[in-house]
Amino acid sequence: MPRNQPIILFEALLQSSLDGIVILSPLFGPDGGLEDLVFEIVNRRAEEILARGTGELLGQRVLQDFFGGDEETFEKYRRVWLTGEPARFEVDRRSGPSGLVFRGAIVRADAHLVVTFSDVTELVEANEALERQRVELLYQYELLDAQAADLARIAEDTDAARGEARNAARFVADLLEAIPVPVFFKNRDDRSFQMVNQRYAELHGRDPDEFVGRTLDEFFSPEMVAEIERRDRLLYDGDEPRQVYETDLVFAVAGRRRMVMHKAKMWDAENKMIGITGVMVDVTESHQLRQELERLATTDPLTGLANRRAFLARAREEVERASRHGRPMSVVMIDVDHFKSINDRHGHDVGDQVLQRVADMVGSTLRQSGDLAARFGGEEFVLLLPETPMAGAQALAERIREAFECTEVQTDAGPVGFTASFGVGEFRSDLDTDIETVLKRADDALYRAKTAGRNRVYLAA
Ligand code: GH3
Ligand code: MG
Ligand code: MG
Repeated sequence: MPRNQPIILFEALLQSSLDGIVILSPLFGPDGGLEDLVFEIVNRRAEEILARGTGELLGQRVLQDFFGGDEETFEKYRRVWLTGEPARFEVDRRSGPSGLVFRGAIVRADAHLVVTFSDVTELVEANEALERQRVELLYQYELLDAQAADLARIAEDTDAARGEARNAARFVADLLEAIPVPVFFKNRDDRSFQMVNQRYAELHGRDPDEFVGRTLDEFFSPEMVAEIERRDRLLYDGDEPRQVYETDLVFAVAGRRRMVMHKAKMWDAENKMIGITGVMVDVTESHQLRQELERLATTDPLTGLANRRAFLARAREEVERASRHGRPMSVVMIDVDHFKSINDRHGHDVGDQVLQRVADMVGSTLRQSGDLAARFGGEEFVLLLPETPMAGAQALAERIREAFECTEVQTDAGPVGFTASFGVGEFRSDLDTDIETVLKRADDALYRAKTAGRNRVYLAA
């Protein structure tokens, strides 16, 4: 091998290396200590990595020129020189002119320091990217973990809620069946039943399921549907949350029933009015009793005509109406003539039969629906004739008088004839504030008819 052959090989090695290689020579101070290091050899790769021109660094001092007097950075080199222990380093110059990260080693070789370093930018960046990925994944994982925990909680809640809803639905269903009165829910939108209980379905002779989704039209007459829905509209349109009323309903199986309806608006969770819930209380029996009591309290048992009490109640209303609207109104007092002698001759029962006939005849003579005939006392009757002036009342009384006169009542004791006397009184707004004064004038007229010979009609003065 020629003498300069190793030098050439060393040069080739140096320049072809993919690592940067720098060889530094020591520079001693007057005290013999290491003062600085001088760039002795710098290969091309080192110049690239350090972003320096060719030969630019040769002869420059590391501490003074390259590190700008920064002893702290130089300390690593000083230590390697003094101890002979190699050192490793990493420099991040990504913000500098090279834009690189390089990693290297400092080794002392006899009277020189050899510094080798390589570009690890890609490696570092790949590492950093990996780290970022790892952090991101960790974050995502934590997120997923949290979401999973949330989902688990929601699932638990949903389960519990579903359980609760099931319990609530079951509770409502059991409650509705336990309630011994008919109950229904109706939708507002399509007017259909959403639910009815067994008691309600029984009224129609159906199963509760048969009502769901169906409207009233399938269960009631058109007139009744119209009336029910008129009430529904009043409830929907009104301010009141509830509605109570009494009505007659005709059911397929239960027939005509008197019901007290308790209806209430139904709202959903969003406060939207969605329908009506109804409970009905069957008061048919008590209503019939009430009606019967009412009838007994207002009807004369012998003749079936209104009694004195019912007459006075109606008469007070009519006086009120007549005086408020300035309308005419009359009364006719009727008293059977010599009735005592009918009783005496034929017996009390025959007298009763005559009174019943008198009542029938008086009742059937009335034409206007507002007219009222009442039995006022033993054999006294009275007619209330709204919208009728004195002349009209007189004509009616005369017709009745004639009818009596021409009648023979067929009794157990054979035919019995009779007559009656009549007193006619007219309501006068200038004199009367109540019915009593009108009756008094009619009674006076009747008395005069009696004294004048009976079987005649007299008018009040
Ligand atoms: P007049 O009115 O023409 O003066 O004679 P009168 O005989 O009808 O007179 P009075 O009013 O004195 O008699 C009425 C009689 O009617 C007396 C009573 O015994 C009888 N009477 C009252 N209520 C009833 C009843 O419910 N049934 C029967 N059969 N008689 C009754
Ligand atoms: Mg009498
Ligand atoms: Mg009499």
